[in-house]
Amino acid sequence: MTQDWDAGRLDSDLDGAAFDTLAVRAGQHRSPEGEHGEALFLTSSYVFRSAADAAARFAGEQPGNVYSRYTNPTVRTFEERIAALEGAEQAVATSSGMSAILSIVMSLCSAGDHVLVSRSVFGSTISLFEKYLKRFGVEVDYVPLADLNAWRSAFRPNTRLLFVESPSNPLAELVDIAALAGIAHEHGALLAVDNCFCTPALQQPLRLGADIVMHSATKYIDGQGRGLGGVVAGRKAQMEQVVGFLRTAGPTLSPFNAWLFLKGLETLRIRMQAQSASALQLALWLEQQPQVERVYYAGLPSHPQHELARHQQSAFGAVLSFEVKGGREAAWKVIDATQVISITTNLGDTKTTIAHPATTSHGRLSPQERANAGISDSLIRVAVGLEDLADLKADLACGLAAV
Ligand SMILES: *Cc1c(COP(=O)(O)O)cnc(C)c1O
Repeated sequence: MTQDWDAGRLDSDLDGAAFDTLAVRAGQHRSPEGEHGEALFLTSSYVFRSAADAAARFAGEQPGNVYSRYTNPTVRTFEERIAALEGAEQAVATSSGMSAILSIVMSLCSAGDHVLVSRSVFGSTISLFEKYLKRFGVEVDYVPLADLNAWRSAFRPNTRLLFVESPSNPLAELVDIAALAGIAHEHGALLAVDNCFCTPALQQPLRLGADIVMHSATKYIDGQGRGLGGVVAGRKAQMEQVVGFLRTAGPTLSPFNAWLFLKGLETLRIRMQAQSASALQLALWLEQQPQVERVYYAGLPSHPQHELARHQQSAFGAVLSFEVKGGREAAWKVIDATQVISITTNLGDTKTTIAHPATTSHGRLSPQERANAGISDSLIRVAVGLEDLADLKADLACGLAAV
């Protein structure tokens, strides 16, 4: 059998292919050059065969690239691969996770629309809504993530969009995505899910009924802490509006970062599975340590939403947090005594990271706001990487011994 390149065969024409095949091959166009890897198109613009060709491409009458703020072949490959992995009709890449959230709201909401956001979202997501989107007349309320009755009673006639992160950071709370999608649709609203912590390898919100899924590709999709980027995926009707905003406003993804993320996607599932397996072992071990008061990880049978996590996700993710006895002083001692683990607030890397949320990611909140968010002074967050599990345990044991 020959492979028909000239017919523009896509590897994404892999109808029925499984996740691992799509993660390695979806979106790659086999070109006459026959390159094996994904080609990196470092070009801002494209040439046309004639003035008429240019006119037809600008008018959208003929397919083809015009300018890299609109489309770029490397970015397109990344978008098609994400769409295949999330089960989306279309995906569109953005310059960062934050610009993915910005483009969702800018393209789907107008002044006077009401948005419901889960309380425990990423810090900059709250700042985006509070400091900027509210100035343009978007109304915002915050709802405790897991409480479906609270969601039901928060709707107003103008509620247009629900935005959630599940599982949440750093306390690993979940929401029943299928149930929340049902509630959103009863009220004529759309449900958007920030799927950064699970990635499509562990959870596919669109298949559970969500309308839009987004990522900070900076985290697990890249997986090795090299570049910033984001992506939004969903149905064509909504994605066309998001594309329209991005093309005009410009927070689109660099082709170089798209190329990095394509390489990241090839190993996404095995990284997520290995990092989740280590996180579970560490969480079980931490629960046994006398200096540890409480561990937050949905993989633990003691987690109140363990059953939901088991059927909504294929693994529990690689982020866990725990409280030590002795408040901020003890927490800092644990962090400072580690030798292998990096002290940084980043996550999604093959390198394990450790952070003190109360004085970093949540440091600008008032003590009352922090208490409402459940972030105590003794809380430590660990984003588990790919180092040897015994070495990670030994490093944390060293930290705990310092208390
Ligand atoms: C990091 C992060 C973001 C923001 O992504 P950037 O790529 O840093 O802009 C959004 N949501 C979650 C859950 C994140 O962890």
